[in-house]
Amino acid sequence: MTKVWFSPLNPNFDISQIQEKVLSLYNAAGFQKIFKAKEYTAIKIHFGEKNNTGHIKPQWIKPLINVIKKSGCKPFLTDTNTLYRGQRFNSIDHLMQAYEHGFSIENLGVPVIIADGLLSKNFSEVPVKGKHFKSVKIANDILHSHSFVVLSHMTGHILTGLGAAIKNLAMGSAPRSGKQVQHTDIKPEVNPEKCQACGLCITWCPKEAIDLYDGVARIELDKCYGCAECIATCRYQAINHSFSNASIPLQEKMAEYALGAVKDKKGKVCYFNFLTHISKECDCMGKAQDKLIQDIGILASYDPVAIDQASIDLLNEKAGNDILSQLWPENDYNVQISHAEKIGLGTREYELVYVE
Ligand code: SF4
Ligand code: SF4
Repeated sequence: MTKVWFSPLNPNFDISQIQEKVLSLYNAAGFQKIFKAKEYTAIKIHFGEKNNTGHIKPQWIKPLINVIKKSGCKPFLTDTNTLYRGQRFNSIDHLMQAYEHGFSIENLGVPVIIADGLLSKNFSEVPVKGKHFKSVKIANDILHSHSFVVLSHMTGHILTGLGAAIKNLAMGSAPRSGKQVQHTDIKPEVNPEKCQACGLCITWCPKEAIDLYDGVARIELDKCYGCAECIATCRYQAINHSFSNASIPLQEKMAEYALGAVKDKKGKVCYFNFLTHISKECDCMGKAQDKLIQDIGILASYDPVAIDQASIDLLNEKAGNDILSQLWPENDYNVQISHAEKIGLGTREYELVYVE
């Protein structure tokens, strides 16, 4: 059975407590064997969209970075550019956003590299044996790294119900074109009775697929590539995705991208899931979001499937119900976990090991 190490957090944890927990998990899991002198190490993290407050904080991971550096490897923090038009849409704005949230070389002693390059063209095709894909597009600076640390903040998600390690790997390792092909089944639909013609969705749509017609937003589906930015942006809940099954192929495709991201890194990847400030939507939301529940703790594993399954189980145990399914009844998060297991990314069977 795969081990997942878990360290619970006090409700009002301070920075030193969370730093110590991360290091205790690193030591308990024996992650030091992953890192070798002179090898390149990608540390995947979401820097948080502008005005987002729930993301993993740079101070929390500083001692982790220091201990990884002791191996003599060359670590860097990384992410890829987004499909939607926010502060992480191109490498320049993305880097500025990372620095604004404190992910700087001065604070952490390692550089930030946006893995898919300035225009998101820096990627290679990686063969996979999937239901949807024969190959997936993976950002080169992640692909060319020898080892990989995947730091995921667990949240709910507007299209997939759950965002944790599998989603972080899948979307976070893909260039924009790779994100686009994962989203192609999502088709947004406007409810004319709810639309207030405010035009905000028009401003945010990266494909200029929306206009106003007769006082109602209208979407040209031929232009739309399903990024869901309009769904997330509308304050009146006037846009939804048009059929409930759209989440299923998206999540299956995510699992196949996640597989491609780590395919050549057997024994060279470690995962941390942060069950802190768990919110209804992900850190791509450019706003502060409420916590759904008290902070739970941090998990570590060599297996992205096991760590996500354990994260969900701990959340549900703490909440006393399947909280993300209730929030996103049309997006069954089990799809990503079970498809990932089916294609060989990992296992849902795990042993939880408590670490102080
Ligand atoms: S953001 Fe919502 S309310 Fe505003 S125009 Fe778009 S669909 Fe209508
Ligand atoms: S219309 Fe399509 S491309 Fe435009 S924001 Fe909505 S989902 Fe994205």
